[in-house]
Amino acid sequence: MLNKVVIANRGEIALRILRACKELGIKTVAVHSKADADLMHLHLADESVCIGPNNPADSYLNIPAIISAAEVTQATAIHPGYGFLSENADFAEQVERSGFTFIGPSADVIRLMGDKVSAIAAMQRAGVPTVPGSNGALTNDHSRTLAIARQIGYPVIIKAAGGGGGRGMRVVYNEEDLISSVALTRSESNAAFNNDSVYLEKFLQNPRHVEVQVLADGQGNAIHLGDRDCSLQRRHQKVIEEAPAPGIPEHKRQEVTDACTRACIDLNYKGAGTFEFLYEDGEFYFIEMNTRVQVEHPVTEMISGLDIVKEQLRIATGLPLSVTQEDIELKGHAFECRINAEDAKTFMPSPGKILQFHAPGGNGVRVDSHLYNGYTVPPYYDSLIAKIITYGPDRETALLRMRNALDETVIEGVKTNIPLHQELVTDEHFMVGGVSIHYLEKKLAR
Ligand code: ADP
Repeated sequence: MLNKVVIANRGEIALRILRACKELGIKTVAVHSKADADLMHLHLADESVCIGPNNPADSYLNIPAIISAAEVTQATAIHPGYGFLSENADFAEQVERSGFTFIGPSADVIRLMGDKVSAIAAMQRAGVPTVPGSNGALTNDHSRTLAIARQIGYPVIIKAAGGGGGRGMRVVYNEEDLISSVALTRSESNAAFNNDSVYLEKFLQNPRHVEVQVLADGQGNAIHLGDRDCSLQRRHQKVIEEAPAPGIPEHKRQEVTDACTRACIDLNYKGAGTFEFLYEDGEFYFIEMNTRVQVEHPVTEMISGLDIVKEQLRIATGLPLSVTQEDIELKGHAFECRINAEDAKTFMPSPGKILQFHAPGGNGVRVDSHLYNGYTVPPYYDSLIAKIITYGPDRETALLRMRNALDETVIEGVKTNIPLHQELVTDEHFMVGGVSIHYLEKKLAR
């Protein structure tokens, strides 16, 4: 096993990684910004190192500081978590070049998947279904661009090849606007991502967001752990996730999960990963791959019984996957509510001191959170403070348990979005299952 791991992240995911390391007997180094000196996992880690000031650019995104922390503590590997440097190919490369193990896929694969044009091409080669589109970057040949859009049919969406976080996209409803929209998206993309490559695809009007979790060991073995539905989103940020995605015909699920595992073998993929799809009228359309552990990984752990972070650590050690596809039995249903320190109506962040924290419990309830009484939520980072996850033998039971869990939770000192979650888990359409990615925003607008 890896001897000592630097956890290059903060909050709940840092604690999650620390717990997995401990179970495997791996020593841990917590790195943190000045503002984060009170994070819970710092007290549980074998060592901790302050890597810089509050601004993430100077700490959690500071590559030399993180690598130095690994050097001075004589660590052997670095786990990037999610967000921050987790999908930064240059970081992965520098970690490996400095003699440490990057816990994730190779820099080449991160780079390939980080560019949406090359990612889509790789998926098409592997037989993963993609959105009808330009099949490559748009050129300056306007008549060609117009012809592609006309053939696909409006509306279309122009997307930045280097885009991320829901930025760098523009929907075009008619031909008159196409060329100017391409130019605008190109210049925005150049400014934001230093990459002016854009492409075009069909804009799906009422899709769901369904994604497939995979694990591959880079030794010829790849498995999937089924799918998740993450359609409840606000501004492209997921709010509630569940596994499995409700109402997907079994043969369709089989088809798409098989394609994903095949793609992993094709790419010689190593680590945990997620294939994200839009799902509309019974068809899957690939939109992007995330080459890291995701916030919502616990719902898959609940229905598969597998520990995804421990598998990441095993794979990084050079061990083969601990299970085969036949060993995986997906059972029951799980939900995750992302609890943020923010106003439930205005969504304004609400940092501050936690005066009272009481986590829910009982059969089928899991809470991943770094909160404790007296902890101060700093204003500089993501507002996620807890993930409440519930499991049940069926969807209805898991949802009832989520209702109870939300009612039991006490967080005083900061505002939270728990009231929003309470409303969502009793929403008649959400209770049926299968709402589209626009459902939450439309509901909020009402
Ligand atoms: P990012 O990397 O910025 O998250 P994605 O490609 O994952 O970009 O797209 C983000 C979101 O944008 C999707 O979850 C979906 O809501 C919307 N979107 C992207 N492509 C399309 C499309 N072809 N049709 C409809 N909506 C889309």
